[in-house]
Amino acid sequence: MPKLPPLLDGFDTFRARYFDGASPLYSELALSGQKPHTLFVACSDSRVDPAILFNVEPGEFFVVRNVANLVPPYQPDGGLHGTSSAIEYAVRDLLVSQIVVCGHSNCGGIDALVRGLNGEVIAREFIGPWVSIAEEAVRPHCQSSSKEAEQAGVLSSLSNLKTFPWIQARLNDGSLELHGLWFDLAAGELVVLDQPPAIIS
Ligand SMILES: [Zn+2]
Repeated sequence: MPKLPPLLDGFDTFRARYFDGASPLYSELALSGQKPHTLFVACSDSRVDPAILFNVEPGEFFVVRNVANLVPPYQPDGGLHGTSSAIEYAVRDLLVSQIVVCGHSNCGGIDALVRGLNGEVIAREFIGPWVSIAEEAVRPHCQSSSKEAEQAGVLSSLSNLKTFPWIQARLNDGSLELHGLWFDLAAGELVVLDQPPAIIS
């Protein structure tokens, strides 16, 4: 079955919603530029699309998606830091007012990390080194439920965000907030990982 035609139908629906009508959103966004309020860090998992989960319009979220919604520590070494470059643009140029890191249940990336910590050999070239970003945070939870490991991964990303000096400066002057979320995709519940944790269902 061809995969592209249904996508093109979807694009027609998108055009009708955002380009036609009396005040098409994209004319405004093209004219005035993007001013997203939130940098949203989510997993690449196909079940956790941030715009769908949080019902936001184009222009609201600047999104970084990667395996296991991880943020590496500040490391200005000239390496190929895709996630850090997106964070830098959102924080220093777009001046978002909050960064939200959202983990989720059934996360394959965190599962790979946990299995690796439990001695299993992960026969992939890039996944193991990438998810090792959260190794220290997740290690104490690698014998517990996957939920605990996934939530520890989110907290690790929040903690790594604070190692970026220009994030720390904006936290200090009160112009930026950091928040952690964890989405249970079987239960349809959202856990806010700020202190104290709260479940929103
Ligand atoms: Zn995931």
